[in-house]
Amino acid sequence: MHKLTGDKVIYTFKTEMEPVLSIKPGEEVLVETNDCFYQQIQSEDQVMMEIDFDHINPATGPIFVEGAEPGDLLKVEILEIRVADKGVAGVVPGEGILGDKTKKPIVRIIPIQEGFAHYKGLKLPIKPMIGVIGVAPSDEDGECPTETPWKHGGNMDTTDIAQGNTVYFPVNQKGALLALGDCHAVMGDGEICFTGLEVPAQVRLRVDVIKDRKVNWPMIGTEDSTMVVASGDDVDKAIYNATDETVSLLSRALEMDFEEAYLLTSIAVHIRISQVVDPRKTIRSEIPHSIISTDKLIENI
Ligand code: CA
Ligand code: ZN
Repeated sequence: MHKLTGDKVIYTFKTEMEPVLSIKPGEEVLVETNDCFYQQIQSEDQVMMEIDFDHINPATGPIFVEGAEPGDLLKVEILEIRVADKGVAGVVPGEGILGDKTKKPIVRIIPIQEGFAHYKGLKLPIKPMIGVIGVAPSDEDGECPTETPWKHGGNMDTTDIAQGNTVYFPVNQKGALLALGDCHAVMGDGEICFTGLEVPAQVRLRVDVIKDRKVNWPMIGTEDSTMVVASGDDVDKAIYNATDETVSLLSRALEMDFEEAYLLTSIAVHIRISQVVDPRKTIRSEIPHSIISTDKLIENI
């Protein structure tokens, strides 16, 4: 199995990037990821806003996938996410949904043992996820900092980008150029105060290429559904983008006209919040398998 160490990072997804690893379709890779602060916070006495902000949201990579060409779909199976034995979370005045009410910054180092995060006497079951994962953007979109989510992926902070699920990306550049980081041991939908339980991790992936399948936004395949993950300057725009893509995918896959697919979306597809605190907001639109399986959907678009 290929291995990629956590010192090989990017801070911007660019159209052209020098790959640090090249793999063949179907191969597995073990990727070491850093927490979103590049492990700069090690004590509760530290002030979050005083760390070096040039080293925020490192993404390990990029990985060149042989045979991936623009117009293909990159399939990334998340086989395992193994998180560190402690994570960091924090609150900063002015940040997050209730930033106006937050009087003092706090940092908490939270131990993680046997599948639980221990916070203030509570035992919270962990559900590890990848916050930042993406590919080289299209020429039209150009450079995207790792902290910003968009059509290439990036900082989507979506709780379903988790072990056992599969993420699909539109390939915009030769080799796709995959990179990832910013794992969370656990996070609530919304990521309300602007951090999850931020952790370094070891992520095991299997990467494949599906030829000639054009999508505009990343998707997630889960046991029950296919999710379209879309972002926008505000939640309304993110919902618009996800719905637009969902209706387009369903009308192609099920051979329905726009209005029929739009109606189907209204009665059977669920709009769910991913995050509301990053430079763009992210939501996901969940298409249950009762409508169409992920494989069938992809086969027919
Ligand atoms: Ca994040
Ligand atoms: Zn994070």
